[in-house]
Amino acid sequence: QDLTADAAVLVTGAASGIGRATVELLLAQGVRVVAVDLDGGALAELGGLAGVVTLAGDVAEEGTNRAAVELAVETYGRLDGVVLNAGTGGTLPWEDPRAVAAAERIFAVNLRGPMLGIRAAVPALRQAGGGAIVVTASVAGLRADPGTWAYNASKSAVLNLVRAAALDYAAAGIRVNAVAPGLTRTRMGGGPGERRTARRVPLRRYAEPREQAEAIRFLLSPAASYVTGATLVVDGGLDAS
Ligand code: NAD
Repeated sequence: QDLTADAAVLVTGAASGIGRATVELLLAQGVRVVAVDLDGGALAELGGLAGVVTLAGDVAEEGTNRAAVELAVETYGRLDGVVLNAGTGGTLPWEDPRAVAAAERIFAVNLRGPMLGIRAAVPALRQAGGGAIVVTASVAGLRADPGTWAYNASKSAVLNLVRAAALDYAAAGIRVNAVAPGLTRTRMGGGPGERRTARRVPLRRYAEPREQAEAIRFLLSPAASYVTGATLVVDGGLDAS
């Protein structure tokens, strides 16, 4: 079951990777999109497409989240779904003098961002009589990896933020779920070590961004009408291994 063709969905981190693939899937079924990203240049490519309005901004700032929701309501008269997908990470040596500041930035984008996004979106989703929020977490929130403690901690926290928000907004008809991608071929996830790293994955390959977008689309759609507070793991079997 698809989203109705005139639905409006807000997507953050929309200019690249999983966010971009999600925008493309939604547009293909006639859903209208508000695309938010820090990278205004990359966002401009999306801005040319029919059914897309764009907003350049940082999801760690409250103003960006509020402005994005306002843009959806002004442009489309409604908001039905929200994909809080923008994220950042990286390896962080514990002893590095910049580690604390770098970790705080990771927490701000990956945890504060979705918190602000949920708070900004709920009034508009209530107005629509309910809706769906999907947060892109990570399999890194379910397990640990060497050197990426701040990323692991932020993704772990956001998984429980999603579960708690699902409880708080269930009565309002707002479903809140997470996708937990494994290794995915994007700017953040792909790269030179891919072939070697892929050997750790039971399916022996990285995911394509579209395979994550399909999971996000499912959680947004009426086909997932009884799914809330869930984590949909899309990791080629990594977490099970
Ligand atoms: P990507 O780098 O291709 O895309 C991320 C996009 O988010 C970029 O366009 C970037 O400009 C934007 N962004 C970053 N910080 C932002 C901010 N503060 N405000 C607004 N936009 C911001 O990477 P991706 O792999 O598509 O990442 C999407 C999500 O998937 C992230 O939350 C990431 O943690 C998660 N994820 C990725 C992988 C992977 O292997 N690629 C695995 C698990 C989870």
